[in-house]
Amino acid sequence: MNQQKQKIKNINQIVKNNILNLIPYQSARLLYKNNINNKIMLNANESPIISLFSTNNKILNRYPEQQPKKLLNFYSKYINLNNKNILITRGADEGIDIIMRTFCDQKYDKILFCPPTYDMYRVTANILNIKYLMIFSIKNNWKINFNKIKKNLKNVKIIYFCNPNNPTGNTLNKNDIIQLLEFTKNKIIIVIDEAYIEFCLDQTMIYLINKYENLIVLRTLSKAFGLAGLRCGFILTNKYLIKILLKVIAPYPISIPVLDIAVQALNTKNIIIMNNNVKTIINNKKWLIEKLNNCNCVKKIFVSKTNFILVKFNNSKIIFDILNKNNIIVRDQNHEKILDNCLRITIGTFYECKKLFYILQKIS
Ligand SMILES: *Cc1c(COP(=O)(O)O)cnc(C)c1O
Repeated sequence: MNQQKQKIKNINQIVKNNILNLIPYQSARLLYKNNINNKIMLNANESPIISLFSTNNKILNRYPEQQPKKLLNFYSKYINLNNKNILITRGADEGIDIIMRTFCDQKYDKILFCPPTYDMYRVTANILNIKYLMIFSIKNNWKINFNKIKKNLKNVKIIYFCNPNNPTGNTLNKNDIIQLLEFTKNKIIIVIDEAYIEFCLDQTMIYLINKYENLIVLRTLSKAFGLAGLRCGFILTNKYLIKILLKVIAPYPISIPVLDIAVQALNTKNIIIMNNNVKTIINNKKWLIEKLNNCNCVKKIFVSKTNFILVKFNNSKIIFDILNKNNIIVRDQNHEKILDNCLRITIGTFYECKKLFYILQKIS
């Protein structure tokens, strides 16, 4: 054995087995490493609209507050929920992680989720060595199989739902969730990931937070607010659980520049701008769906309440490559068997939607 190989072998003996075996999260940035300038990036569900911010606070010798009051109050006002019901996190991804670390004992507990959905529930469980159970949704309409969930709750501590769902774009039925919250009361935490909720605000479940003590909602500034680069998210739940989660979160999760910009993004003027941007994206989506429905290469467009669409093609591999050659980067979903020949396409600017359509029209 050469020296290099021996070194790797020695190091691998120290690393935990679940990490050695981990299939890590395939982020859009990892999957597409080329320069993204002058490319049409429709692969990460980011906002195509740029808002400019700069940080005013240049004094950084002191640690920030663990939970900056000012930001809590701004977010509280925006969602019309008491600031005691809010925990600020480094993006929704940190929320997913903190909740698992707070409630799950790797010896006994499991989490449950319903593929196809956001992959970080699986990745986080693998990293923390927590078992997971997958209940597959019904393929033709991606509906959650609640009956099957209810029959498989042994040792389940947390159920993660994404609403509206990534990558399918569909929404949960509120009555199903309320029934499940009743059914799992005092036993199981139900997490609703509302990363895309600004695109369909009537679907939010936050008004149930003070009614069901086992409900936790996740939010982020990464999608509708156009601040994926900021890394700021929120956990919303009852004040007792917030206190528990505070024990687990890092002592200083939110840096002072992040705090400063998040507060600006949540002022009245910028919330109006965000809401207008949401309307623009939804209009672009309507236009694009109408046009794509007339393209021969498109087999099906799934109903979406978000800023992206899941599209089934006759041959998605060819489409992906042609788009790629034309500098349009979308997200391939073929790796999941239930999503064969599907691409997930983020809704871009009107110009970007038009470019996408012209290319698909040519192929057709
Ligand atoms: C993008 C996304 C996240 C991650 O949000 P961050 O705040 O950027 O960490 C979480 N959940 C879903 C469903 C997402 O699509």
